[in-house]
Amino acid sequence: MTAFLTYITIIGSLLSSFQLNAAECAFCNQDKISKQKIYETKYFTVLVDYAPIQEGHLLIVAKRNIVHLQDLNDDEAVDYNHIVKKVYSFFKEIIGTEDYIVLEKNGKSAGQTVPHLHIHMIPIKHSGSLMLGQLGVLYKIVFGAKALSQEEVANKVRGYSSFFQADQKKQLR
Ligand SMILES: [Zn+2]
Repeated sequence: MTAFLTYITIIGSLLSSFQLNAAECAFCNQDKISKQKIYETKYFTVLVDYAPIQEGHLLIVAKRNIVHLQDLNDDEAVDYNHIVKKVYSFFKEIIGTEDYIVLEKNGKSAGQTVPHLHIHMIPIKHSGSLMLGQLGVLYKIVFGAKALSQEEVANKVRGYSSFFQADQKKQLR
């Protein structure tokens, strides 16, 4: 009987910790991400990355609490394709480069730290040696880049969002 009760207690605490995790997911917390938000569509929110690998580094976050790329449904995949083109235009017109990296990690072994689908789009612009520039980018991808202050994030949100504004009204209709 005691063993049975212990078993029930363990199951209960596992269930409640699971619910806690879903509620505490950083990318489900609209208050948290609103400070980084520059654009949204029906299925995604586009954020300024708080530790940019290069100027213009953005995050495309699924609105549904899904974990992996293969969890996207067909409507979301079409919407994602629209965002890729929009962000590419932003890189070209505002950041001044047509080159970029798309980075998306699936699962712990791949280094996914937040179990909620988020895709990095990082514009790449080097001055000087191409090889040294690429090594610098790889170093930051592996070891992380310096985090911005709240004020710096707010400045980037203000600076970047004007580019997305005209399209924004259309996307939420
Ligand atoms: Zn989530």
